[in-house]
Amino acid sequence: MTARMYYDHDADPAALAGQTVAIIGYGSQGHAHALNLHESGVRVIVGLAPGSKSRPLAAEAGLPVADVADAVRAAEVIMILVPDTAQKAVYDAEIGPHLRPGQLLMFAHGFNIRFGRIDPPATIDVGMVAPKGPGHLVRSVYQAGGGVPALFAVHNDASGTGRARVLAYARALGCTRAGVLETTFAEETETDLFGEQSVLCGGTAALVKMAFETLVEAGYQPELAYFETLHELKLIVDLMYRGGLNFMRFSVSDTAEYGDYVSGPRIIDDHVRATMRQVLREIQDGSFAQRWIEENETGRAEFERLRARDRDHQIERVGAALRAQMAFLDPVVVTAGQAQAAASGAARGARPATGGAER
Ligand code: NAD
Ligand code: MG
Repeated sequence: MTARMYYDHDADPAALAGQTVAIIGYGSQGHAHALNLHESGVRVIVGLAPGSKSRPLAAEAGLPVADVADAVRAAEVIMILVPDTAQKAVYDAEIGPHLRPGQLLMFAHGFNIRFGRIDPPATIDVGMVAPKGPGHLVRSVYQAGGGVPALFAVHNDASGTGRARVLAYARALGCTRAGVLETTFAEETETDLFGEQSVLCGGTAALVKMAFETLVEAGYQPELAYFETLHELKLIVDLMYRGGLNFMRFSVSDTAEYGDYVSGPRIIDDHVRATMRQVLREIQDGSFAQRWIEENETGRAEFERLRARDRDHQIERVGAALRAQMAFLDPVVVTAGQAQAAASGAARGARPATGGAER
């Protein structure tokens, strides 16, 4: 069975005709949603805190800006695009008290609904459009005439128009040009957290660091270890991206392919499988979410300690020096959570200029 994909012809823009969409937050996703919807002919209002540094950015882009509560009152559709860890506080103070029946409350990630942090009244439609790409690409791909694929979900359709409005939103954002796939808040949240922990961020970072340390500890040159375990990974992933594991194996030597088959499963073994299942259980039963919420509510000491520890890892120091000589790969230097282009030009591929500007 193949999943149904929804495209432009499955989404009727008329579902949003005459309606105003409040975009709350103007960061990575917020600026892309506000500008794409605006250019698709949807009436948009950006909701921001009075002292927000994003206010001039949104205003210069020609968008109306208001306090969050005023934007919520002025809109039929509200999309929450502040960081997941800030959403409950913003919702409790400035969104929830101003909601009225028939409005559609939207999210780009299911965390706060899935873990019960935000529990809108039953008279409110609740939906999600979660682009499968960073905000600056949601914007630039739309401008180039394309779209970033997305997941969509309808958690509550009190008005009976929620589903049509969610699809019309996905179309205005450009996502139905590429295709959108239906999911639930639970499936989106659990798979998103599992993917970033097991492979995309956690698993890959730990694998790279451990392989680098193993070579350096055995007396090999750190620069060589960097090329072997981090730099080349991109070239391998590019092959997988274009043609799956088969194309990667087609492109590498038979020696590399044989080593892949006989050594890969010894490294990522049944112990890792058991740990992955445990990590998934902790996502499903809410204990990971609880731990992360508590960490945020108590000053993020553990998070900052872990961040500082990894920032000074030998692979980062060795890598920065090597990348500084490779201007063609547009290197970026990250210090204390801020990304900056190492040489000249913008930090393309890093977060956009607006992203995280207020944190
Ligand atoms: P972000 O950190 O880039 O931007 C958040 C913006 O919210 C800030 O620029 C600011 O305008 C505002 N803001 C920040 N703190 C605030 C506060 N305390 N009160 C009010 N406003 C505040 O956030 P983002 O990465 O765009 O994430 C927004 C949502 O989109 C999240 O639910 C996230 O999971 C989802 N999402 C993000 C991406 C991505 O690529 N960044 C991809 C898919 C989904
Ligand atoms: Mg993700």
